Amino acid sequence: MVATSGDGWVLAPPLKLLVEQLDDYDPGRSHVSDGSIASAAHHVANPASDHEPRRAADGRWYVTAVDISNAPWLDRWVLDDLTLDPRVKYLIRNRRYWQRIRWTGDPVRTWVPYTGSNPHNHHVHISLQLGAVHDLSRWSMPGASPRPATTTRPAPPTPKGLTMDDEVKAAFAAVTAQNAALAKGINSVLMRVVQLRQGQVNEGQAEDARFKELDAELDKVQADLAAIAAQSALTEGAA
Ligand SMILES: [Zn+2]
Repeated sequence: MVATSGDGWVLAPPLKLLVEQLDDYDPGRSHVSDGSIASAAHHVANPASDHEPRRAADGRWYVTAVDISNAPWLDRWVLDDLTLDPRVKYLIRNRRYWQRIRWTGDPVRTWVPYTGSNPHNHHVHISLQLGAVHDLSRWSMPGASPRPATTTRPAPPTPKGLTMDDEVKAAFAAVTAQNAALAKGINSVLMRVVQLRQGQVNEGQAEDARFKELDAELDKVQADLAAIAAQSALTEGAA
């Protein structure tokens, strides 16, 4: 069983709730790789992990990580539910590390290779934001049934993770379309610059007003370019 308190520390209350909810959800689940406070060996291997007590804003010391043992529902739950909970700081599972996008806080999946010595193929590591130690919202449990299905499990009503992926793809498509439209606009402006310069040779000062108009148009194009570059950077970061 997961230790929930010890010398000068308690398990962060939302994680205590998480373990209680999982035990209710699947009373027969394995606890063989469950964990909270770092063991002596874990402390030596990784003294900076969230399994070490950390001091929250209230001045108390909390362990803000739990390990949850393998179960048939574990991976779907991690993908469908945990990655969407804003209290989750990071996850480690099957040599992959997941972290919320920092600048937006959006629950976009960002699994990257994890090269730590423990492959995390017997449990998932769940770290909680230190600022969330008093947020006792109920956790989303796997699927909709009270017990894991033994034969067939109904598909989740909405593949939330896939929806996020689709949104990222749609954002990319929108930026690509915008870029194409902009390239067309720039091309026509450049054509006009060439035409006007040719015209200036012939018409002299009469072209001044048309150049001012053109300057304003170029300013607008530059502003659009900057906005699209900023949007592209965000979208690329999210993918
Ligand atoms: Zn862990």
